[in-house]
Amino acid sequence: MKHLCPVCGWDGLLEPAYDENGRGSHEICMSCGFEYGFDDHSEGVTHAQHRQRWIATGARWFNPDEKPEDWDLETQLANVMPGSSSGTG
Ligand SMILES: [Zn+2]
Repeated sequence: MKHLCPVCGWDGLLEPAYDENGRGSHEICMSCGFEYGFDDHSEGVTHAQHRQRWIATGARWFNPDEKPEDWDLETQLANVMPGSSSGTG
């Protein structure tokens, strides 16, 4: 059972990013590099801020070894941003 990253939409997390009490797992997303419970709680970075920064810097994988050969950024982002296909922001 894999879990979804609420920041970038990668579905390969070993644990849920947050438990039912909202505590971060401290797992680091292999795709966007967000650490749940650290980057947000300690650094004050929101998911949206991290996502925008990650995309702006080229959406590079934190661990490129985990990147699927047929990986597609927009497909992955659709997991966390459904129906956001229109508009230039
Ligand atoms: Zn992620």
